[in-house]
Parts: sequence; C-alpha cells; structure tokens
Amino acid sequence: MAEISENIVEKILKENIKNQDTVFVFPTEIAASLWADRSIFVTDCQAVALERFLAWDKFKGEAVRSENQNKISVPSTMRQIFVSRLIEQNAEKPFFKSLISEKYSKTAESFSTWIASILPKLGMWKEYFEKNSSQKDAEDQDLLVLYEKYTEFLNKYGFFDPAWEKPPFKSNGKHYFIFFPEINSDWEEYKFILESTKEFITLVNVPDFSEKNNFNKSEVKFFNNSRVELKNIANKIFELHHQKKIDWQSMAISVPDMELYGSYIDRELELMEIPHVLRFSRPLSGTPAGNLFNQIKECVSSKNSYDSIKKLLLNDSLPWKNPELAQKLIAFGQENHCICSYVYGGEKIDVWEKSFGDAKYKDFEVENFYNSLKTYLKKFNQAKNFNSIRTSYFEFRNKFFDMENCSDSANKILGRCVSELGALIDLENQYDCTVPSPFDFFAEQLESKKYLEQASEFGVQIYEYKTAACAPFDCHLVIDSSQASLNVSYKDFSFLNENKRKKLLNRDESNVSDKFVQLYQLNSLKEPAYFTCAERTLDAYAQPVSYLKMNDLRNEKILFSENPYNLEKEWFIGSENCEFPPKITEIQSKSFKNWMNFQKIVPVLQEKAVDAVTELNSKSAGNAGENSIYVSKSLLSKFYDCPRKWLFACREMNLKEQDKAAVLLDRFAAGNLYHKILEIYLKALKNNGFHLEIEEDKLEEKYEQILENAITEAINFDGEGNEKNCFLKKELLKTTRPAIKRTILNFIKEFTKIFNNCEVDDCEGELRIQDEEFNFTFNGRIDCLLKDCENGQYYLVDFKNSDLAVPKNLYFKEEEFKTSEEGENLQSAEINKNLPLEEQNFPDFQMPAYTWLMEKQKNICIQNAAFFSINEAKVWPVFGYEMQRRANSKKEIPDCEKFKKTTEKVIEFVKNYVQRIRIGDFKLNEKVQNYEKCSACEYNSICRKTFNVGKHE
Ligand code: SF4
Repeated sequence: MAEISENIVEKILKENIKNQDTVFVFPTEIAASLWADRSIFVTDCQAVALERFLAWDKFKGEAVRSENQNKISVPSTMRQIFVSRLIEQNAEKPFFKSLISEKYSKTAESFSTWIASILPKLGMWKEYFEKNSSQKDAEDQDLLVLYEKYTEFLNKYGFFDPAWEKPPFKSNGKHYFIFFPEINSDWEEYKFILESTKEFITLVNVPDFSEKNNFNKSEVKFFNNSRVELKNIANKIFELHHQKKIDWQSMAISVPDMELYGSYIDRELELMEIPHVLRFSRPLSGTPAGNLFNQIKECVSSKNSYDSIKKLLLNDSLPWKNPELAQKLIAFGQENHCICSYVYGGEKIDVWEKSFGDAKYKDFEVENFYNSLKTYLKKFNQAKNFNSIRTSYFEFRNKFFDMENCSDSANKILGRCVSELGALIDLENQYDCTVPSPFDFFAEQLESKKYLEQASEFGVQIYEYKTAACAPFDCHLVIDSSQASLNVSYKDFSFLNENKRKKLLNRDESNVSDKFVQLYQLNSLKEPAYFTCAERTLDAYAQPVSYLKMNDLRNEKILFSENPYNLEKEWFIGSENCEFPPKITEIQSKSFKNWMNFQKIVPVLQEKAVDAVTELNSKSAGNAGENSIYVSKSLLSKFYDCPRKWLFACREMNLKEQDKAAVLLDRFAAGNLYHKILEIYLKALKNNGFHLEIEEDKLEEKYEQILENAITEAINFDGEGNEKNCFLKKELLKTTRPAIKRTILNFIKEFTKIFNNCEVDDCEGELRIQDEEFNFTFNGRIDCLLKDCENGQYYLVDFKNSDLAVPKNLYFKEEEFKTSEEGENLQSAEINKNLPLEEQNFPDFQMPAYTWLMEKQKNICIQNAAFFSINEAKVWPVFGYEMQRRANSKKEIPDCEKFKKTTEKVIEFVKNYVQRIRIGDFKLNEKVQNYEKCSACEYNSICRKTFNVGKHE
C-alpha cells in the first residue's frame, strides 16, 4: 500500500491559501469545487473565494486567451455546419481524393463529425507540415484544401478558431498553482508557454509512486466475474460506512464504462440500501426521451419499417396520448409482417397501406393512426430549415403526446432538445446559413450534446473513470481496473496514420494511465484507494492493471460472510451454527412480510392453481362430459418431457416469451404451406375419384393441373394464425413459386410412385374418442389415409417437412424385457419395469396413438404406416409388410400385430397422464429434468428448477 505522509494538494493549500493572489487550477471542475470545500477544513481559513479554484478549461479561457479584437470565436456548431455544406459541395463536384474517396462522395454525410473533429487541429498540423514534411501526398493535399476552405469560411463570417491561435499568457498579477497538468489531453499544446513563465506559475506534477521511491504497490482485488466484483464493492462500502464511520457522500466509485456497468452497480447498491448518485452525463440522444428525434429519423429513413415504428411507439418515456392504439398498430404490423416498404416494378409500395387494404377485418382507427403518424413524421424530413423542424415538433407533440402526463425527467430532456434546436435557429438567423438536411443535422447534434441529469440525492458518488481522480474523497473505489479499461493515452493528429504522426511530431503518443492510478491513491484520504477487477467482465475477459499488485480472489470460497442476504440464506438452508442474522435490510424485511401476507390470503395457493388448471383442461374437452380430461399426442409429449413445461405452455397459462419482432417467413411457414398444398391436392383427388397414378416418372396432365391450382389456392389462403398469408408474405411466395413447385412436384412424384394405385380415403381428418372408463377425450388429426385398391389394406401417412422432423424413437423395446430370464438382462428388466414411466425409454406417441384412434373411432384396422419427408421426398416406413415392400426397404420393421405392443404402452402413458392431470401431479423427476434439459429450456428464467440444478453444477 502506498503511504503518503501528507497530500501534496493539502500541503500547498495550507502554505498558500492566505495569499489572496494565488489561484489553484485543477484538471476538472469537480476536483476544483471539492478542493475548495475541503480547504476550509484543512487550513485556517473560514471562507474562500470560489474564483480562486479553477478547472483547467476555465483557466485557459481566463489566462491563456487569444485576443482577436474584431472577430468572434467560432461556435462548434458552425464548424459542423461548415462541414455539412462542404460535403454537399464535394458531392456535386468532388475535390477530395483521400479524405472522402470519390466513389463515396455522394453518400458521405456520415463523415461530417469526423471531418469537423479535424478542424481545430488543422492550424497546428499546417505549421508542423510546413516545417517537417517534404512531399505532399493525396491526403496532405486534401488537408490543405480543407484548411483553405475553412479559412475562407471563418473570414466570411468574421470568426476565428481559438484552437489555431498562439495565445499569450496573462498573469493579471496572480500566481497560479496548476495541479497535475500532464494528465490534461491538450497539455502538450500549452506546455511550452506555461513552463516558460515560472514566476507566475507553479506546476505540481503527479508524485512518483514507484517502488524506487519506497512506495509499496497498492493492490487490485481480482475476482472471478463482475457479479462477484460488484457485490464485493457494495459490501466494502457498507463496511466502510458502518465500521469505519465514513459518510456515504465521502466515498466515490469510478467506472471506466458507465453505459455497461451503471445499472448493475445501481442494483447492487440498492440491494444493500446504500444511497448513491450516478454522476453520468450522456449524449442527449442517448437518454430515453431524447432518443425521440433519432427514432423519428430512423422511421423516415427506413420508410416506416416495422422495427423503426415499433421502437418509436414503444418508447414509454414519451407521454403517448393513446398507447393502446400504438400497441394495436404494432400488433397489426407483426401479424401482417409489415417489415419494410419497397419498390417493385417502379412502384413504391407502402407495406402498411397495402396490408390495411388487404386485411380481412378492417380496423379504421388503427389505419387512421398509421396514416396520421406517417404524415407527421414526413414533415420532419421535409423541413427546409431548423425553424420548420420546431414547427413540426410542436405539431407532432400536440397530435400524439399528452404533456400533462409527461414525467419531469422526460419534460426536462425534451425541453433541452428544443433549446438546442433554438440555438441552431439563432445561428441560422444570425448567419443566414442553411444545411442540406436540417433534420438529420439536428439529430446528429443531439448525439454530441451531453446531458447530466440534475440529481438531488445524497450518497456515494459514482463517476466515470478519470473525472474524479483529482478530487478529495475519504475513499476512492475503482471498478473494472483492468489493463485495457484503465488505459489512458492521448494522440495528437489522430486523423493521420501512425507513421505520418511520428514523422510530423517527432514524439510518441503520451500514455498517462499510471498517473491516473497514482492520483486515485493520492486523493483517497482516509482509506487506501480500493481497486477491483474481474476475470470475466460483463462483456469480455480481462486481466488486472499492471501498476498494481494482484490479490487473486478467484478461488476464494467465503467472500461475503457478513452479507445479510448470505446470512439469511445460510440460516434458511440450515447450515451448521447459523443463527438468523442479527440485522437484515429493509428490502429483506419487506419481502418477508409480503410473503407472509400472501400466505394468509391464499393459504393453499399451489393446490388452488392446480385445481384451476385441471378444471380448465377438462372444460377444453368440450361436450365430453364433466371432468373429462383432454388428451392429444402433443400434450402427451410435452408432459413427459417435463410436467412443469406442460403447465407453463398449457392453453390456460400459455406463457410465451414476449416477442414483438416481425419476420417475413417464420420457421414454420414453409412446412405449413406444403401441408396446405398437399391437403388441397389430395382432397381434390378424393373428390374427383382419382387414384394415385404415375407412369415413367411423369404425372398425367390432369394431376399437374390439380397441383397448379392447389399451389395457387394455398398461397392465397387466408387462414388464421400461422396459416395466415398476409400481403407481403403472399407477394414473396408468388416470387418463389417456381421453387415451391419444384419441391412439391418432386415430392408428389415420389409419393405417388410408392403408393401407386392407392386411393385417398381421408385427408386432414379429425379423430376423437371418448373413454368412459377413465373419463378422457383424445383428439387428433391425420395427414393422410390411403387404401390399397388391390388388397384393401390401409396406409396411415404423416407428412414431415424434412428428415430432421421424423421421430427416431418409434417402438417400445419390449424385447429387452423378454430376455429377462437370461442372466444379466433380468436385472435390467426388473429395474426398468419399476422405473416411473417418464424414465422409461418411451416411443414417439403419434403413430401408435393414431392407429389406436382409427380402430376405436372408425373401426378400421391400420395395417401399414409411414412418415414421408417433403423436402427430401423420402419415405420412412413405421410398420407393415406391404409398407416395407412398397418402400423397397431393407430395414426390418414390425408388422401391425407386433406394433400393438407399442400401442399398448402408449395407452398406458395416456392413462397415467389422465390420472396425474386429474390429481394435479406435476412432480418433477431429477433424472429427467436434469441440468442439460433445464439449461436449454425456454422457461428456465421463470422456473426455479434451474437454480436447484445449477447448484449441483
Ligand atoms: S427449466 Fe426444467 S423443470 Fe423448468 S420447465 Fe424447463 S425443463 Fe421443466
């Protein structure tokens, strides 16, 4: 740990504060104001003038200022305006060769921020270039053109660029103490002037904390991951406050990436009830309400794509007048796949308008809402100047927002955006300058304007890394202290490549990373600065910064023994010698009381929920009679996969991950379409009394014609849900019709060859049986039932979209049990018989269940069955000798008699299912619902099973 006898800032303040002509300059405003506060406590002064504590930027404005009597300093926005117009001129008649390649001159708007950032350095570049460079390349030539045009612009409007000036230093009779100047990014520019005026200036450099100066390195605690790291920070602060009696506001957390870590830190501190204030300024466009203008820009530039409209309308920090209508529009867009508008055959197609026109059920309110949204959004883009944008904004606001319901924070942000717009209007009026796309320009401006929400709360201060390094705190805590995150280096002429920079400047970039680490140690006044780092950060892997000594805690088992949540948990699970914690947080106490109250209101909650589901499940069995349980092959599969999953997915709960994405064709679209075509085709054959017939790989013309009609009908089919073909989907399917026909024709030919001379007995037929004894109703729907015209045998065929969808486990392997008398197998058979059903190697339910249903309902004995994959046009026989013969399969399959064993087993599963649903038995089985299954389950975020399994990981 570094030990400093006395803080150097404090020492200088004590020695010089009484001299009223001394001024103290700090790198940041925060450091200046906090040292001004502290000076009253560490010196004999009762009060100090705040003007004597300056931030570096303010000092430059006061003491190192240019005097350009007849001109005014160029506003940074005017630099942007100049570049926008320059890019427009370059698009008309390109003069840049390297800065903007001629190829991209027409679409170079996105270069504007970068080119504007070069302008302040251009004066210095020219000076160095004239001194040190002998030959001009294309890039130098472009920079010279840029210099000339910018100079012309400055002269035209009577501006000067302060960054180009060589200002003289004016002491005004004062003596300046400049603290830690080397960490300022522009120090190199001022170094010469300030170092040469020693009588008025004392430069105070960062003390050297290196080992040669007898300082021991401070440590950085290295954790396994960022979650543990942040938990540790919260615990450390809690401990510093309660044990070391350090005030909350005397502690500061510094964070290199606030965007990424901000909300996680917030959560950990909330949990530990630590008051805190996030001092984080972000771009106006990065705030939820300020994002409005970017979202409008995205809508306009994407011609109202679904995603852009969705983002705008779901921005709930905005006070929408009618959020329900907005939701309806989003739902319409998703249902009708209004992904994007497009141009087809020279015609501009607005997919929303076409979909409204094509909709079966009209909702004029939603349609009108879209039309007016479109009209108002367009006005922003059509605005010819900044004043028109302001008019468009207020019209939009009056139409869609209810400002009475606007939150205070959103109101302030929107107000600030409007005042930024006002500043642009002032410039526009004053200098009569317009930009090519005023609305895009304004939206970009909001990206460069920082906004710091005024926080009145009192507590631990959270800053971006570097901001508070020079400010005095009782304890500084720095998170994510990795080599990469704490790297601070400054590059002059960063717009040039490395070789050119070195040649021109004759020096390397300055790296001040170690200086910042030292400053945090120096200004942590009561407790040593606390650095932490994690191997697995929130977005990458990291290693601790090398300026500090690593304290490796990655394998430490007991990290937070005093944490009230850990103590409560240990007590709850009955760990040895664990008492209930003497003190718990208010959050813990409230949670417990809520839980207690809930238990009183609903004492048998779990049973009631199960009753409700069972009751509803019986109701869905329709007229089947009281308490009849509804069964289907997909419900069976779901239940034996996991009963809890069944519960989450059942019709009554129907829990689904919220998904507002619109996709053109979902993953079931192709399968649904092929199924529809086959249904229409096979029904047409049945209705016309045509057999399946093919000769020499060619279908007769009448079959081809039926197929053509079936494809047309299926594409235009206006079904519901997944089967619904909206406007855009139909258009797309029409364009892919030849490929669809190829696949389905290939399939039909193969299918017809295998089942040549069979007739279609049923297609998409409903099956339904009621079982009186066990009181259940089993429903199903078959794809196709064929009858052999020669021998009268039946073939049950189920279509699958591809080979991958064909079930692999088709039979109940009874043989294993039969051989039980022969030694080894006996044991395994006995064990297996005693296993609960869900642990047994159960077969796919479809073919056995449907064979059974056919027999019961239609009194038909199914002698053969097969799956048929559409994409591969391949048959997968399941049972029946005739089936094996027709498929010409070498694989041995059972006949229908042997297959009955599998059917019987499935009936056992059905009865077990009915019984368990009736008594609400949704018990899990550790062996089936194991870690592999649960970690891949879509419900694992709401199912507590994940936690239990994770514990045994
Ligand atoms: S996480 Fe596991 S137990 Fe929970 S629903 Fe999914 S599979 Fe079932």
